[in-house]
Amino acid sequence: MSSRIRRCPYDRRYTLSLVCPVCGRPTRPAHPARFSPEDRYGSYRRVVRRWTTSP
Ligand SMILES: [Zn+2]
Repeated sequence: MSSRIRRCPYDRRYTLSLVCPVCGRPTRPAHPARFSPEDRYGSYRRVVRRWTTSP
């Protein structure tokens, strides 16, 4: 299992700690890719665009 892998959303650093060793902010689990801060809006925008563009 790789659920212990965590990631800092601020400096995008992977770590196993609950707190980022670089900036000291709380890290988030890196496992659920759909909650990734950089992919969230991109995929969401694509879905919305598909919905809004009707023939
Ligand atoms: Zn950090």
